[in-house]
This record gives sequence, structure tokens and C-alpha cells, in this order.
Amino acid sequence: MSEYVVSVGMEVHAELMTESKMFCRCPVAFGGMPNTRTCPVCLGLPGTLPVPNEAAVEMVIKTALALNCTVPEDSVFHRKNYFYPDLPKGFQVSQYGDTNPIGYDGWLEIPTSDGGTKRIKIRRVHLEEDTGKLMHLPGGGSGVDYNRAGVPLMEIVTEFPPDIESPDEAREYMVQLRAILIYLGVCDGKLEQGSMRCEPNISVRKEGSETYGTKTELKNLNSFKSVQLGISYELERQSEVLEAGGVVRQETRGWNEQTLSSYLMRIKESEAEYRYFPCPDLIPMHFDVARISRIRATLPELPLAKQLRYENVFGLSHYDAGILVSEQYWGDFFEKCVELGADPKLACNWMNGDFARLLNENGQVGMVDGDGVEDRPASKVRPAHIVELIGLIEDGKISGKMAKQVFEDCFGTGKMPSNVVEEQGLSVINDSGAIETAAQEILDANPGQVEQFKGGKESLIGFFVGQVMKKTEGRADPQTVQAVLRDLLNR
Ligand code: ZN
Ligand code: MN
Repeated sequence: MSEYVVSVGMEVHAELMTESKMFCRCPVAFGGMPNTRTCPVCLGLPGTLPVPNEAAVEMVIKTALALNCTVPEDSVFHRKNYFYPDLPKGFQVSQYGDTNPIGYDGWLEIPTSDGGTKRIKIRRVHLEEDTGKLMHLPGGGSGVDYNRAGVPLMEIVTEFPPDIESPDEAREYMVQLRAILIYLGVCDGKLEQGSMRCEPNISVRKEGSETYGTKTELKNLNSFKSVQLGISYELERQSEVLEAGGVVRQETRGWNEQTLSSYLMRIKESEAEYRYFPCPDLIPMHFDVARISRIRATLPELPLAKQLRYENVFGLSHYDAGILVSEQYWGDFFEKCVELGADPKLACNWMNGDFARLLNENGQVGMVDGDGVEDRPASKVRPAHIVELIGLIEDGKISGKMAKQVFEDCFGTGKMPSNVVEEQGLSVINDSGAIETAAQEILDANPGQVEQFKGGKESLIGFFVGQVMKKTEGRADPQTVQAVLRDLLNR
């Protein structure tokens, strides 16, 4: 079978983390009783007038700038007209045109397997409103929940021809985009709850062919893994259709998480005619240059840039650096440790190792300061704890094994490592006299083994070292113990 290559265009919808909806003052939240967060405006009742949410507009400008887009000075809202029960007004307020959206002509970088980066061009970033949700009722029939109707929604679309050329790149695009949105504080990025939704359009063609194949759109991808698996599946399915002499139809397909396959949702006969026109109820937006540069100045260092900096400046692996930048507060924690003098690699090892494990087990998050994130409280362990712990090991005051114990204690109580060491009388026995006493006791208690050792069974040294370590409760340095034992045995 000749080789087929895949091209993927990404359309991502992200719900913005504003307090209230796009054109009314109804609160934005997840879940709750249906239709409890609605009003005449978001229900589209006659005579109501929308008032745009300024915070939502700023969030889209911020995202557009972070995605290297051009932000025009003038931008308007359009009506996208279509009839569907989840859309109470009969139209969705959205943005139309090439240079009208709040952002256009940008790009996002994804890491590549060779350690470099690849640019994925972004065609547009626009602002619109979310629709309601249709639900099947237990007793039969359907109902509509308008709690989500009118929630500010940002749409981010990649450029054509597509830069994304594999399922892995598609996944990486989503990983990076989600991290950026979270860093910017504009979307919580919950794929499984649908606050960030992606609809890739996928086409295949024979390698070397200039013409793109017919694309299918894939829905219901609610994890990074589904994005990757769904696109792989379509690549294979479409290749098989073409190889058998068939034609790929332009259709919308759904991803089934259970069967790991896609199924037909609907065939797209032709592009729907939405009759876009500027919304007469909303005045055109004008952004002056000073405002845009003020927003630009608030942009944080983005996750991929930070990850590469950790790799280059601190010598961390791509994997470790990736974990550190996965959440902004986790990266802040790491940088504070380094700022307080910790060796970056050691700090990273403690953080991504024992600390991360304990945080997971206890449902907590590690933060420089603050109360926590959502329902996860902040750990009592702060950067100073990690820094001091590393210092105690480096100074030979405690062994690495003891440090793990000390750290668990710090985690539970919030005490500083030096206090734990002092209170529990922990410390490495550096005094060779004390080690010698313990070693002599062990040799005296095991005359048979001493005999065998002297008769040439050298491997018994391990047994003696183990016994001395046990006697000193792991507080002696094994190297010193071995040296002392050999000395005694050779006398
Ligand atoms: Zn409302
Ligand atoms: Mn849309």
C-alpha cells in the first residue's frame, strides 16, 4: 500500500473565564440546575439589547497577542444566522471576515522530536457566544438547558494549507494551546468538561501529491489522547477508502471513546449559508494602539519558551522541564527554589519525585504562596523546605534515605527539615569511633561469618555492612562503615 500523509486543520472553541456572560450579567459556571442562569437577554426575548463584556474582549486580545496575531484597530460582531433549538435568538453573535476578527495571521510553536520547534500558523482568533445544550430527558423527549447560552466563547482556527501533518503534531498543538490559555488565565482548558473543545478537519493524500484530499470533521474528542487516536484512525480509514478505489465523503464524524473508532454523524452536502451581517445591536469595537500595547505588556512568558529555558539554562531534560511548566505555579515554585540557592537539578528531582507523589496522594498543590487551586489546598511545603533539605544532604548532615523520611514529616507538619532532624535526633553518624563500636559488636556477635570471611568468602562484607547499618538505624554512611569493617577484619 502506497504511503498516505495526513493534513489537519484545527478549530478550537474555548470558553472564557469571565464572571458573567458575553452580553448579559448572568453568571458563568459549570453544572447546576438547567435554566437557572438565564435572563431575557441570553434567552433572546424580543426587545432586549446586548451589552458586550469588556473582560471577554480583553481576554481575546490577550490571546491573539500571545499567538502572535495582528490585532486590528477596528473589529465588529456579526450575526451568524441558523435555526437550531440550542440557539434561542435564531442567530449566534460571532465575527466574520479575514481581517475583522480580534486576531488574525498569527502562529503558535510546538516542540518537535529533534528538540526544535515548528510553527503552526493561526488564521484567526475571534469572539462569539456559546449555545445552549440539548439533553435527552429520562422520560423521553428532549429539553434545552440555556445556562451555557451566551457564555463568551473564543474560536481559534489554524491557517490553510495546514501545518499540522501528523496525529502527534495535532496533540502537541492542543497541549501547547491549552497551556497558553491557562497561563493567560483566559480558559480553564478542561477538555473533559467541554470548556475547551477541538474539531479537527482531517484529509489524506498520497505522499508527494500537491492536491489536498476531501476533509472530514471529527467531534467529541475530549482528551489529548482522543485527539491523537481519532486522527490516527481517520488517517487509516481514509487511506483504506482511497486505496480500495473509493472516495472520501465530506462529512462530520463522531469519535467513540469505547470502540476507539469514528462514526458518521452527518454528511455535509454543501456549506451552510449563514447570511452573516454586522449585528445592528452592537456598535463596532475600536482598539487604540495604547490599549493594545498595555495588554501586550501583561503577557507572561509562555510555557514552551519557559520549558526551553529550563532545558538550556538549567540543563533539565525536556520531560522534566515539561512537568515543571505544566502549571504556572509549579514553575514559579521551581524558580523560587533556584532563587533561594538550590541546585536546579536536585530541586527538580525532589519536586517531580517525592513532592509530586505526596501532593497527588493528598490532593494538594505546591505553591510559593497562596491558598491553593480550586478544591486542592496548597501544601505546607514551600520552596524554603526543599532548599533546606537539599542543603542538609549536601552538607552530609543526613543521608538521602533519611531525607525522604524527613521530607514526609515536613509535608505533614509544615516543619522545617532542620527542626525535624533536630527533634528526632536524626543525623548521620560521622564519628568513626561510634561506627567502630557498632561494627565490633556485629563482628563479635557473628564469629562464624568472621571465620568464613577470613577463609576467603569476601562477599560477606555486604552482610556485615547491612548489620551495622541496621544497628545504627541507617544513620551511618555505608562507605565509612565498609572501610571501618575491613580495617577491623584485617587486624
Ligand atoms: Zn443572561
Ligand atoms: Mn464557532
